[in-house]
Amino acid sequence: MQSDLPLTELKGVGPALAKKLEKLGLHRVDDLLFLLPLRYEDRTQLVRLGALEAGARCLVTGEVLLAETLFRGRRNLLVRIGDGSGQLTLRFFHFSRQQQAQFQPGVHLTCFGEVRRGKAGFEMIHPEYRVVREEQGGAYDDSLTPIYPATEGVQQGRLRNLTEQALQRMRSLPPAELLPTDVTRKLGMPSLADAILYLHRPPPDADTQKLISGTHPCQQRLAFEELLAHYLSLRKLRALAATEDAVALTDGNEEVSAFIAELPFKLTRAQERVVSDISSDLSAPHPMMRLIQGDVGSGKTVVAAIACIKAIACGVQAAIMAPTEILAEQHWRSFSDWFRPLGVEPVWLSGSQRTVARREALQAISDGSAQLIVGTHALFQEGVDFHRLGLVVIDEQHRFGVHQRMALRDKGINAEGHPHQLVMTATPIPRTLAMAAYADLDTSIIDELPPGRQPVTTVAVPETRRAEVVERVRSACASGQQAYWVCPLIEESEVLDYQAAQASYGMLSKALPELRIGLVHGRMRPVEKERGMQAFKEGLIQLLVATTVIEVGVDVPNASLMIIENAERMGLSQLHQLRGRVGRGAAQSHCVLLYKAPLGRIAKERLAVLRDTNDGFVVAQRDLELRGPGELLGTKQTGLPDYRIANLARDAELMPQVQMTAEALRKDSDDRATAIVRRWLGGASRYGKV
Ligand code: ADP
Ligand code: MG
Repeated sequence: MQSDLPLTELKGVGPALAKKLEKLGLHRVDDLLFLLPLRYEDRTQLVRLGALEAGARCLVTGEVLLAETLFRGRRNLLVRIGDGSGQLTLRFFHFSRQQQAQFQPGVHLTCFGEVRRGKAGFEMIHPEYRVVREEQGGAYDDSLTPIYPATEGVQQGRLRNLTEQALQRMRSLPPAELLPTDVTRKLGMPSLADAILYLHRPPPDADTQKLISGTHPCQQRLAFEELLAHYLSLRKLRALAATEDAVALTDGNEEVSAFIAELPFKLTRAQERVVSDISSDLSAPHPMMRLIQGDVGSGKTVVAAIACIKAIACGVQAAIMAPTEILAEQHWRSFSDWFRPLGVEPVWLSGSQRTVARREALQAISDGSAQLIVGTHALFQEGVDFHRLGLVVIDEQHRFGVHQRMALRDKGINAEGHPHQLVMTATPIPRTLAMAAYADLDTSIIDELPPGRQPVTTVAVPETRRAEVVERVRSACASGQQAYWVCPLIEESEVLDYQAAQASYGMLSKALPELRIGLVHGRMRPVEKERGMQAFKEGLIQLLVATTVIEVGVDVPNASLMIIENAERMGLSQLHQLRGRVGRGAAQSHCVLLYKAPLGRIAKERLAVLRDTNDGFVVAQRDLELRGPGELLGTKQTGLPDYRIANLARDAELMPQVQMTAEALRKDSDDRATAIVRRWLGGASRYGKV
């Protein structure tokens, strides 16, 4: 916190122990203050032996009545103790001669352990115990015993000792209170020092239920400040961008109007609103940092295209990056169609490109003849040298993290400043979570689907009824529609993955000999994948068997039936994304979730959510509840930080207040804001340069 005392300053910590502690993320003495116990044990009061309950972990005392060694398959040492109100058996499987000799009748013991129901009354197996002089009546711990997260070779006793030393230091040198008092008062939160003390050494009457669920005001106090620190750091990043230069993209309005007039559809009101947000951002001499959230099928691509038209009209390069080759290629194709009339030929860049093509692409990118570049994350790798990058579009942002976003942005820096940045995500996340994840971005939401879309009807069907489902595919295709058959991606093994997809393909080819069936999976070369997708798009293939490589973005409006195998193994948001591949045309679309029975509770709920709603925000909210935010936003690389104490699944509701507090601090006491960020994130923000 305010000091950087290394752990080795503590009594009993040498280099070896310091190294082990590092595994717990502990580097400085004050880090120990933020290593919160996972749970607590109550050793503050004795439980009478007559009042024991099975399952409880408790502290008891009694006099040894008898001790005997039994051989029942394995050696057992049984020690019976009594306290007048009842009896308890202590059972040891490993013990020394010395121990055996300790347990003489008449000796008093204090024990702590879990009570179980044994053959002859209650037992404790391998309890912690101590020989005591008499009945000690009352001389026990005066706070609950914290149980810290374990790391190899560091015992609980050691952690308790170290945290005690850190707490001692804190008592004499309390940390500065950085939250405004009106906030802590309003939220009923204690001071930082009080909260830390309480959580490490809770009094006997503490509400352990609350402590264990992480909802105690003391925990909320720490979580609040941590969320605030991260939020402030992202806001600073945002503020920094506002001071950077960018080329103001003011031209191109005529080109945009002409483009919109040529589209085979009319923009929705939501699309128009977002286009105008973007136009006003682009016309400023500072880099745009805007996130577009919109459910699958809401029409984000065309909005991105409009931004690109403006950029190109203003003479700068525009680059669009997608997370998978399939999606990038699809964008490349749509953009080629859209931009050809404007005399712009998009350049393609991907990791798997052949050398010659790649060299040509790189050349065009660096000499500026490439005005529009479409690709995968290959776009921000070594050797890509933009001539005059003015706009970066990142599609399906949930697959990329803050770091990748920053990398591409930094790549475009030139004498004129930073490129404008537009990020798009189809993973609608609850508002509170978006506040935490995307505080460095301005947000626009496309909250309207193009007209005429019908919600996808979803059913869950056990695998045993696969034959019926195959019949359904037959009749859908016979009536001129197209279908997807999705096999789960087996990430651990490309071979297994391939075999699973291959097996389904074989089964379907045999069952449906009259259909033209294609196969697309992760192991194919990108050209082959693209060929398969293209054939499906053109209707040459009626049924496409695919792994989840088609999860994001793929757009084939005539496909109106989707079968998802092993749906019970997939997450809610992933299933929603997959399902978003159908329901894009005018026909009523259906999604069949094939599952292997029996379903677990969570799997059952997931499938029920999908059956009940098509609304991405509802799906996201339920997903958050069922899974937690890390996975919802695409695991580690989301840009969502690893919090030490806060847990967004639990604490997301603090976000509105965090946001208000942050904005007030930024306005009135920037020093405090800086101190809060420094306390929790160290000198520099983990996002780079704040
Ligand atoms: P997503 O937001 O999931 O990326 P897309 O941009 O792929 O969605 O758009 C989905 C489909 O909707 C595409 O076929 C696109 O051409 C079409 N589309 C986009 N906007 C409209 C609109 N305003 N009216 C009708 N169709 C539209
Ligand atoms: Mg898309």
